[in-house]
Amino acid sequence: MKAIRIHKTGGPEVLAYEDVPTPEPGPNEAVVKIEAAGVNFIDIYFRTGLYPAELPITNGQEGAGTVSAVGADVSTLQEGDRVAYTGVHGSYAEYATVAADRLVKIPDSIATKTAAAAMLQGMTAHYLTRSTFTLGPDHTALIHACAGGVGLLLIEMAKKFGARVIGTCSTSEKAAKAKAAGADEVILYTEQDFQAECRRLTGGQGVDVVYDSVGQSTWDGSLDSLKPRGMMVTFGNASGPVPPLAPLELTKRGSLFLTRPSLFAYISNREDLMWRASEIFRWIEDGDLNIHVGGEFALSEAGEAQSQLAGRKTMGKLLLIP
Ligand code: NDP
Repeated sequence: MKAIRIHKTGGPEVLAYEDVPTPEPGPNEAVVKIEAAGVNFIDIYFRTGLYPAELPITNGQEGAGTVSAVGADVSTLQEGDRVAYTGVHGSYAEYATVAADRLVKIPDSIATKTAAAAMLQGMTAHYLTRSTFTLGPDHTALIHACAGGVGLLLIEMAKKFGARVIGTCSTSEKAAKAKAAGADEVILYTEQDFQAECRRLTGGQGVDVVYDSVGQSTWDGSLDSLKPRGMMVTFGNASGPVPPLAPLELTKRGSLFLTRPSLFAYISNREDLMWRASEIFRWIEDGDLNIHVGGEFALSEAGEAQSQLAGRKTMGKLLLIP
């Protein structure tokens, strides 16, 4: 089978489109014939080495397809089941081996590609709005990179829970997309001082929570956009990792809370995984959540897909089709 392998870290050129043996399932595992793999920023962090991994690896942390084989002891799945997953290396491939308890069956009414696009970014938006900071009608949230894969889903969920959303993004085309997804206000942070705009839009008060996936370039402004006792959620490094912080910086700004969460701690057990995945599937079925696929690429074009994502050229979700 074909797979995108990383033997050494670096630019998109290190993504090798190779022939590798088709995997066999071990005990408690299933093999999934991948119909679509999600492209996520985390794939770029593993490619560049920002997130370390023992190489070689097959890139990709999200996929959906059909079970083609099950290992001994697997009683919950059978050949032909449509499934989706995230959090396991290896989805940039024609087939992937996944622990059975990490697989979620896709409801009949949801297309396999939609499920592939919903797992990682959807469950991220879910835990950020349901668990890290439980958004409600009394809250104003600042969402950076609001037309991105996670960003658009965060907007939709925040609006579903009644919060006011101020988004940031780099172009007017992205701003229009974010508005269409429900953002109340959108700031072009490449042209305007987003912190000053946030203060203005909140009557000087600041926001209750900042969801910051941009990292280095927005970090200081994000802290300064919060109201006293607000929650700073730094959950990504699209512009580079954030620098170390002295705790007194939080005190100075009014006893802020700071967290640096990761999806994988929020779906580490089967119960959490099923709670988040089933709510997302239900919201998609009910028309409450739209999955925005911004582009599809052949598996062999993984480098181009990642370059577009890293180059800020994309809106919504990118998929690779083996
Ligand atoms: P996006 O689709 O959001 O793409 C990243 C966006 O970040 C770009 O489109 C761009 O939007 C913005 N950006 C700002 N500055 C830069 C820069 N210097 N270089 C590149 N992009 C920049 O990607 P994803 O939805 O896949 O991921 C979004 C972020 O969320 C990533 O940082 C990712 O690591 C993080 N994440 C974290 C998770 C967690 O659990 N901790 C889970 C999932 C994602 P614009 O042009 O509008 O500025």
